[in-house]
Amino acid sequence: MPTAALDRLTDPAGSGLLTPPRPAGSSPLARADVDLRAVQHNVQVLRVRAGVPLMAVVKADAFGHGAVPVAKAAVAAGATWLGVCRVGEALALRSAGLRVPILAWLDDMAAVAPAAAAADVDLSVSSLAELEAVAGQRLAVRVHLKLDTGMHRAGCPVTRWVELVTRAAQAERPGAIRVVGVWSHLSHASSPADPHNRRQVEAFQAGLALAEAAGLRPEVRHLCGTAGAVGVPEARLDLVRVGAGLVGIDEVGAGLLSALTVRTRVLQVRRIPAGDGVGYDHAGRVERATTVALLPLGYADGIPRGARGAWVAWHGHRLALLGRVSMDQVVVDAGDLPISPGDEVVVLGPGAGAPRVTDWARWAETIPHEIYTGLGSRVVRVHSGMEGAQ
Ligand SMILES: *Cc1c(COP(=O)(O)O)cnc(C)c1O
Repeated sequence: MPTAALDRLTDPAGSGLLTPPRPAGSSPLARADVDLRAVQHNVQVLRVRAGVPLMAVVKADAFGHGAVPVAKAAVAAGATWLGVCRVGEALALRSAGLRVPILAWLDDMAAVAPAAAAADVDLSVSSLAELEAVAGQRLAVRVHLKLDTGMHRAGCPVTRWVELVTRAAQAERPGAIRVVGVWSHLSHASSPADPHNRRQVEAFQAGLALAEAAGLRPEVRHLCGTAGAVGVPEARLDLVRVGAGLVGIDEVGAGLLSALTVRTRVLQVRRIPAGDGVGYDHAGRVERATTVALLPLGYADGIPRGARGAWVAWHGHRLALLGRVSMDQVVVDAGDLPISPGDEVVVLGPGAGAPRVTDWARWAETIPHEIYTGLGSRVVRVHSGMEGAQ
């Protein structure tokens, strides 16, 4: 190979033919900008609406928004608890310096109890087996007992509750565990008038009475997520666990703000003639000559392969997705618009003219939660709106 060609290959400035130019400080090909002021607004709105302390639920990387920055923003805005599924998620929050109580509710509790005790992370316990496995380690772990009040997902069945609270009270006396909470979850909170809500509140109150009769004195009783916090006042109790509402998923019309905008840049542009097809099996066909643009985002990045009727925004114009979504890329139809490589395209966001997360959810026949949590790791999260949140 001639020396000049080798030089270009190793050219640190990236100006050779084999290493395409990349201006210094260029942004990643795809990014999700997360405005933490929206998160703080949502915390403040929901605290006022609920009128009780708020647990910011930052499971699954805060619904894809970045757990640590979102947790820091939520705590700065007045959240006094954090909630996650795995203890590993809680440990990451502790490592980032978050000091408020954290509850982890879905894990192998026997295995994670030592790490939870060391980091002062609260664990949910739903069964006698789980209780014995945790209490047997005598680590004084803080425990929230979960009662199944009717959702039949997690929690202790009503028929086993007396046994669980009795044994928990026995284990608490020598300090093997500390029962700090009793909790459950509503199955119909997004329909406030549904009678299941009232029945679950009643079942919960009955369970609480049994826990107290067994000698337990929990500090916090909690029963609902965002929808219940807004629409089911009798379920608010001592604490509401807010996840969806934190990142602006507003199924309850509470005036919440979306925080996240996905942007990418056009990589290639070409003109294709009328009648041609695009992508695998030519699943996308064009009726007239058109300009198509390649975007470096695919289903591995969270663009749902099953989305129908989807579009992205270029300078306020809607560009329809054309053909199948590939793993890493997708083609959009720019018609006769003067689109160029390097141009920014808005894929999702609250800004004017951009497709909303609710649009993507409709196109993919799912819910906003799945769109947000589906965003892949190549979509670089960039946080703004709060000093020191990262
Ligand atoms: C995810 C979750 C929440 C948060 O609910 P949202 O509806 O997202 O606010 C609360 N509690 C439990 C047990 C959860 O799994």
